[in-house]
Amino acid sequence: MRVDYNVPLGDNGTIQDDRRIRETIPTITYLIEKRAKIILVSHLGRPKKKEKELRMDEVGKRLSQLLGKPVKKVDDCIGEKVGNAIDGMKDGDIVLLENVRFYPEEEKNDENFARALSLNADVYVNDSFGTAHRAHASTAGVTKFLPAVAGFLMEKEMNYLGKLITDPKHPFTVVVGGAKVSDKIGLIESFIGKASEICIGGGMAFTFLRAKGYAVGKSKVEPEKIDVAKSLIEKAKKAGLDIELPVDVVASERLEDTALHKVVRADEIPQEWMGVDIGPETAKNFARIIKNSATVFWNGPMGVYEIPSFSVGTMQVALAMTACPGVTVVGGGDIAAAIEKMGYADKVTHVSTGGGAALEFLSGENLPGIAALLDK
Ligand code: ADP
Ligand code: MG
Repeated sequence: MRVDYNVPLGDNGTIQDDRRIRETIPTITYLIEKRAKIILVSHLGRPKKKEKELRMDEVGKRLSQLLGKPVKKVDDCIGEKVGNAIDGMKDGDIVLLENVRFYPEEEKNDENFARALSLNADVYVNDSFGTAHRAHASTAGVTKFLPAVAGFLMEKEMNYLGKLITDPKHPFTVVVGGAKVSDKIGLIESFIGKASEICIGGGMAFTFLRAKGYAVGKSKVEPEKIDVAKSLIEKAKKAGLDIELPVDVVASERLEDTALHKVVRADEIPQEWMGVDIGPETAKNFARIIKNSATVFWNGPMGVYEIPSFSVGTMQVALAMTACPGVTVVGGGDIAAAIEKMGYADKVTHVSTGGGAALEFLSGENLPGIAALLDK
């Protein structure tokens, strides 16, 4: 069973957020009930060599606590150690393999490595939506050697995210923020013609404001994407909707919590200052739209949320999400972490465990980790 236990780690290797582990419990519990022997495999972080702090031991301990059941961690992914551990398993036992990216063959989707991974199993279950956009040995390669099916988390992600593109209840609002326009073009394009409203905040809003001819001081702008922003605004207009941009922003002298900052009109950012958050009027506008929606999808923070002084806009949009009576879905690595940290993760309908995978899925791309599964 491929899981996504790529959890955020603190400085001393402690798990900062175990949501991705918790989300796999339904599939694991089901397999235990069916008397399967469960072999779990995941990656963790971006190992260059076999870094000690990227071993799966802490993850195994946390999973064991959550399940109230022993989880045997094996210090390898293939070979004799693994074979021996699996030989000793009884029905319902759980083995967790080592960080699969300790092998460079994983990301190369090496066929021999995929075969070695599949050697001890009868069935492959993919419950790792977060890596479904990667064709790696443990996400795609193994499906050549084993019957491959989706786990319940994978199914849940496909249902919630799939519904956003196939059959969203209207009014349907899409809120996009975060760092770069270039990361989100496909997402915005895919929702033009489907969404009733598109609200844009975060760093990427400033490229859109530039496209409208505003001077934005030292705000983050992608000059080569100004034309793309212009054409997205045009396309949206043709589809009958005005992209909602910030009317006011928080401008700051520097990217520091204690830096001098103030609320200004979106077209009045001082030349030497940068936009770091949406302003209160914008937040109120976005919140009103969200609360009146039957479906909302939100990706990307509204400001530099890591800095408390610039996290207010993101917080206000999050609050509006919790007050919306419709279906509320949050997807994106940073925004999922922010929602979790604010304590609102259980107050929205669904927080996707996929960052890049959710974006690609919603942009209408075929994800190799999903395409490789049987329709079962
Ligand atoms: P997600 O992971 O949710 O898709 P992104 O990765 O696109 O979001 O963007 C998150 C990053 O965007 C955060 O690190 C945040 O600090 C940054 N960001 C948001 N607003 C601004 C801004 N106004 N200026 C600079 N960076 C911003
Ligand atoms: Mg991110």
